[in-house]
Amino acid sequence: MKLYNTLTRNVEDFKPNEEGKVAMYTCGPTVYHFAHIGNLRSYICEDILEKTLRYVGYDVKRVMNITDVGHLSSDADTGEDKMLKGAKRENKTVMEIAKFYTDAFFSDCEKLNIKRPDVVEPATNCIDEFINMIKVLLEKGYAYMAGENIYFDTSKLKDYYVFGNQSEDELMVGVRDDVTEDTNKRNKNDFVLWFTKSKFEDQALKWDSPWGVGYPGWHIECSCISMKHLGEYMDIHCGGVDNIFPHHTNEIAQSESYLGHKWCNYWFHVHHLNDLEGKMSKSKGNILTVSVLEEKGYDPLVYRFFCLQSHYRKPLEFSYDVLDNAKAAYGKLQKRCLDILKEAKAAGALAEDKEGCPKCRAKGVLEKNGLVAADKVNKAVFDEYNAKFIDAISNDTNTSMAVTLVYDVIKADTDAATKLALISSFDKVLGLGLTVEKAEETAGVDSELEAYVLEQIELRKAAKKEKNFAEADRIRAELLEKGIVLEDTREGVKWHLA
Ligand code: AMP
Ligand code: ZN
Repeated sequence: MKLYNTLTRNVEDFKPNEEGKVAMYTCGPTVYHFAHIGNLRSYICEDILEKTLRYVGYDVKRVMNITDVGHLSSDADTGEDKMLKGAKRENKTVMEIAKFYTDAFFSDCEKLNIKRPDVVEPATNCIDEFINMIKVLLEKGYAYMAGENIYFDTSKLKDYYVFGNQSEDELMVGVRDDVTEDTNKRNKNDFVLWFTKSKFEDQALKWDSPWGVGYPGWHIECSCISMKHLGEYMDIHCGGVDNIFPHHTNEIAQSESYLGHKWCNYWFHVHHLNDLEGKMSKSKGNILTVSVLEEKGYDPLVYRFFCLQSHYRKPLEFSYDVLDNAKAAYGKLQKRCLDILKEAKAAGALAEDKEGCPKCRAKGVLEKNGLVAADKVNKAVFDEYNAKFIDAISNDTNTSMAVTLVYDVIKADTDAATKLALISSFDKVLGLGLTVEKAEETAGVDSELEAYVLEQIELRKAAKKEKNFAEADRIRAELLEKGIVLEDTREGVKWHLA
């Protein structure tokens, strides 16, 4: 696996700390508003990285924070606290706002086939860990108190600008003219670890601390949450390029000062999605979300496809014209893949779908994920194309090349079963739903039928609880006779039309 590392500014051979295992951390969303499709570009590209690592055989543990407090640490933050502003706007408490937008974020992720990280931790869960790290930084002389806040002293580090070469001007990107410099700071780049007195006096969430009632700065959460779940050594840290400075620079400063050794080896940064006005950003308001795309008739996976056509290290320009091209190309590609699925099915090459319908929704969707019986696959051809796919995707996640390989497989001189096996295998990384039949979601399922099925499911559940398995089986058989298939899954009973 080759990866570009922002720390060394080189494409490197990836070597994890522990053989076969990858400890991976992702800066999660701030949850005072919906994620825009720019944020989601970062999460799509990081999802591809995680799935690629898994595809080539690594055991990945991925952690993500949720910034529900603490995103107010820069001089550039003016006016009201963003969470509080969101709460007032929507007549909700700050925690209700956080929950609502966290759920909305994961619902967008699901629509875009972005896997949920193994661990998701809100910043408000970890106040004790933050306080502990700040205490140690004070003891070691890396932090100081001024104006009733605790600051990290960047002058204590030999090399604060670990990502190198940024000019002062570049470092001030995002800092507006009307910003008033915090006069408590000893050095311009010192940053707040803990506030007890800030310009946001009306902060809703506050905690007791050895330094008085207050709340954490932004950067501390990622250092503490990653160490809590991944330990003192990390392999890959991800985020958008705007996180390089100051967020990731500050994370490294405080983590390595706290630990006394190097913390994370590889830094993976996704370049921005821009619109006509430049970088898409939450604070600009009027943002483009997955729901807006859906309302305009785009399948969210069209947006994923659009992102995969370009490399994550290049800026990506968004326009509806380009998205329309992606929509047309995706539609054609999916149709060709579904034709292969049909052909393989007709040839009797599909394996029994033992896992059931992983994505089957209550409305009764029939989705096959194109599993092919192993003895129907031409192994030599499979290995040849799979090796090419691995070459492409493990080369700093070259997604456009990986998508090209799907087209190569479609054109290949081999049988439908082998093609289907290859495409559904590649799709474990690409996540484009290429072999998923999204057949007539609600067609044929009227609300009366739905109500009846849900009632029968409840009756079957009650029968099972009473250990009346004969009755439970009878209900299942009766539904099957009516063309309704029940699936017992870890998430509960799901159903679809036969
Ligand atoms: P936020 O919720 O604002 O903290 O951002 C969540 C993630 O999206 C971070 O990793 C950001 O670096 C990233 N991000 C923000 N704006 C963009 C953009 N326009 N394009 C791509 N990624 C972005
Ligand atoms: Zn972070």
